[in-house]
Amino acid sequence: MIRVHQVICDADDRSKIREQLLKKLKMPSADLIDFHIHRRSVDARKHEVRFSFTIDAKVHHEKKYLKQKDVIKKPDEKDHFVPKGEHPLNSRHVVVGFGPAGMFAALALCQHGYRPIIIERGASIRQRQKDVDAFWKGGPLDPESNVQFGEGGAGAFSDGKLTCRSKDPLLRKVLEELVQYGADPDILVDAYPHIGTDAFVEIIENMRQAMIEMGATFHFHAKLEDMIVHEDRLKALIVNG
Ligand SMILES: Cc1cc2nc3c(=O)[nH]c(=O)nc-3n(C[C@H](O)[C@H](O)[C@H](O)COP(=O)(O)OP(=O)(O)OC[C@H]3O[C@@H](n4cnc5c(N)ncnc54)[C@H](O)[C@@H]3O)c2cc1C
Repeated sequence: MIRVHQVICDADDRSKIREQLLKKLKMPSADLIDFHIHRRSVDARKHEVRFSFTIDAKVHHEKKYLKQKDVIKKPDEKDHFVPKGEHPLNSRHVVVGFGPAGMFAALALCQHGYRPIIIERGASIRQRQKDVDAFWKGGPLDPESNVQFGEGGAGAFSDGKLTCRSKDPLLRKVLEELVQYGADPDILVDAYPHIGTDAFVEIIENMRQAMIEMGATFHFHAKLEDMIVHEDRLKALIVNG
């Protein structure tokens, strides 16, 4: 499989993209087995809309095409980045906070067969939405349920554009999970993926429900205030790796 950058096309249309791909690679039609769009961006700077596609293509004579400009071997983007644990656990993991980091940590644990306990200092996303609306209409600030704190994390009520490290190999996994739980599949290919706040609320609820079905437990209005470190147990953990 090869990845071809900068396939420029004046329409988001599969047959035209195919045509431009063949043209760019100077490829006879018979060499192109199949292709799909990996990334799509729009360039409207010169008063005409043009699309720039990154295409993943299955081709005959791959080596020949890999010598060309803008062509690389398709990177391995399979989800094998979260290693599986090898030791049975005596107790359940606790995930503190259900912002993006906590959401995906808890989801990964559930997907590996663990049953995390999630504690979140703020409210569930629906209640939080009401609290934030009330504040924006001039109501009081709830210090525990507001734009920063609560299910979904700090950016839950922003314009919903996903700012991400676009070269991170985990990106695909994150986007696929968001689609799995209700995001528009366009985010998988758009260069500047946009989810939208309303959709985000539903996605978070769907994710939470799926995790509950996998055995997770959620506690809202539950703030971590202190941690007791058992030095003996910590030492044992370090020794045992
Ligand atoms: C106003 C605003 C707009 C933004 N807009 C965007 C955007 O459009 N696109 C984008 O990609 N990024 C946006 N961001 C950035 C994005 O929100 C952050 O990068 C992201 O939320 C970081 O995720 P996180 O899980 O590390 O932390 P957080 O999102 O901060 O999540 C931490 C969670 O932990 C909870 N918590 C904290 N302390 C405790 C405790 N002691 N006990 C229990 N729970 C606790 C909090 O309530 C929170 O839910 C925005 C940020 C802000 C503030």
